[in-house]
Amino acid sequence: MHHQKTTAYQPNAESEPAILSIAGSDPSGGAGIQADIKTFSAIGVFGCAAITCLTAQNTRGVVAFQPVEPAFVRRQIELVLEDLRVTHIKIGMVGAGPVAAAINAALTGFKGEVICDPILAATGGQALFNQEELADLLEHIIDRATVITPNLPELQTLTNHPCGRPEEALTAARTLFSRFTKLRTVIIKGGHLDETSGHVTDYLMQRTNQSDEPRIKSAAHPRIATINTHGTGCTFASAFAAFHLITGDDEQAFRKTVGFMDQLLVRSSKLKMGHGHGPLFHHLLRK
Ligand code: PLP
Repeated sequence: MHHQKTTAYQPNAESEPAILSIAGSDPSGGAGIQADIKTFSAIGVFGCAAITCLTAQNTRGVVAFQPVEPAFVRRQIELVLEDLRVTHIKIGMVGAGPVAAAINAALTGFKGEVICDPILAATGGQALFNQEELADLLEHIIDRATVITPNLPELQTLTNHPCGRPEEALTAARTLFSRFTKLRTVIIKGGHLDETSGHVTDYLMQRTNQSDEPRIKSAAHPRIATINTHGTGCTFASAFAAFHLITGDDEQAFRKTVGFMDQLLVRSSKLKMGHGHGPLFHHLLRK
């Protein structure tokens, strides 16, 4: 049912490489595809976007969202993949189970990187994915991912394991490797761990081979005091995709992403936009 035939994936070898973001739209410009495209441009790669959901929101929070018709989501993705040389796909907000199935169908035959930011709720707590359809997200999206970038609450929901301490989070992430065979790398964003600490530690876990323990690297960095945190999750996953396109290496991409986020959060902390949780100001880092 879910694996309908699609147009053959025909990468155009002469084209420049591109990253396709499959995500929701945030009209206030802080998160979703708007954040993704800004991140790609700030880092210097070509970005394109297929929209899964429309949201109505501003910096004060998400008021409503409306998933795009699944067949139309699929068509957007197929037409881009038929034509552009997409080497990396970044998946953000999916919004609904049938949209997850449509994305999966559209990716039939895609051989590149699939970086998944498993978005379940907005920073303000509003649900962005129906919990009852979580099985669709796991079956159609996480199962496609080569890399996933959960924060701790997302990791806890995906694995059903407690993630209150670093060892628990690493144990939870290990279960993803045994469950999802295409998954090579899990990046755990540590922002929710010990929120009183002045430091944040992010973890990179890489599958070595199917039976071995994953290789674990970490990056500790200062916790930045700022109200402008809207879209940090989207930006992190997009930055990783962009740096991976440039370097072809998980660890380099991870370290560059952590440095990029630190710089962006510090620079953005000095500016004000809107009345609530402001966005990141990607254009400050343009080269
Ligand atoms: N994608 C969309 C369209 C959103 O509206 C939001 C949050 O409001 C997110 C993703 C998640 O944002 P963040 O990067 O802050 O986790």
